[in-house]
Amino acid sequence: MGWDLKVGEIKSTYITDEDIWKVISNFFSRSYTTMSYKYGFFKTLIENLYNVNEDLELDFNKLFYSFAKINWNLVVHHQLWQSNNKKQASSIQKILEGYCDKYSIPPEWTFDKLDDKVQLEIIKDIKKTGKRYVIGAFYGDTKGLFYEFDRNKEYLKFNLPVYRFLQRHQKMITYLTNYHLALFLEKHNSVPNINYLLTKIENVSKRSSLNPFYQILLKYQENVCFYCRKSLGKKRNASHVDHFIPWSFVQSDNLWNLVLSCPSCNLKKNDNLAEKSFLYQIVERNEHLINSFNPVDIDLFSNYQHEKLVNLYNYSSYNGYIDSWKPKV
Ligand SMILES: [Zn+2]
Repeated sequence: MGWDLKVGEIKSTYITDEDIWKVISNFFSRSYTTMSYKYGFFKTLIENLYNVNEDLELDFNKLFYSFAKINWNLVVHHQLWQSNNKKQASSIQKILEGYCDKYSIPPEWTFDKLDDKVQLEIIKDIKKTGKRYVIGAFYGDTKGLFYEFDRNKEYLKFNLPVYRFLQRHQKMITYLTNYHLALFLEKHNSVPNINYLLTKIENVSKRSSLNPFYQILLKYQENVCFYCRKSLGKKRNASHVDHFIPWSFVQSDNLWNLVLSCPSCNLKKNDNLAEKSFLYQIVERNEHLINSFNPVDIDLFSNYQHEKLVNLYNYSSYNGYIDSWKPKV
């Protein structure tokens, strides 16, 4: 079914968790996979779970930003071959390697190091190909249950039961996707072992620097640690940008989930959730940011709602994250 579909409708909204597990298990167990697209696109969807609007829609520009970044980091930064045929690179791989040559970009560069203009050019190109080969194929691979889409209107819309399912099982689904992507790439690349790949894949959507966020937070936030309230001083290394909901869960960097903290709190909190009182504080902090933003920065909060952050907190706790961390005073 369907890689060349122009629109796809949701096949059924009355589905149980069991139905969804079956689709996912089938998705991963297909032995004949020719390209890495489908795994990269699953990672893209997970990364964008909290970027949907109130109708659970995602626009293609957002989606293909993530998809381009993930693929760039796999193809260029990690030099990994993305198809099962050594003589035939995937279209996405060819496009990315083309840009690498065109602008003489050093292969060790990650996507976020590229100039904004070059990034946009790449995203546009990847979107064109992704609209043609990825959106419909993934729709078919997931039996039309995951989302509806329209190639001309450039959006996809999650099926509500699937959306809730992905939130509830986010940690497991992320792990499964990373693992199967690693299995596929291991088959078609010479690498020392699968752990080598897994570590790289786990971090492939991560930014190499949160510095742009630091600059923005500094503009709007008092210069104190969000957790222990100690003054942070002026030196850049005296402050860390902390993911309030751990990055390992949320898998993306959104300003509304980032706070300035002292290095000690950031390191001690590590992969845990701060206790609930901090959730109320970050909700309040976000309210403050929204009210004080310059128009240029307001985009950083597009599709943010307080309920989303509260849900994200509850779902990460549900997924096993320990939610009682607080600084020692
Ligand atoms: Zn602190």
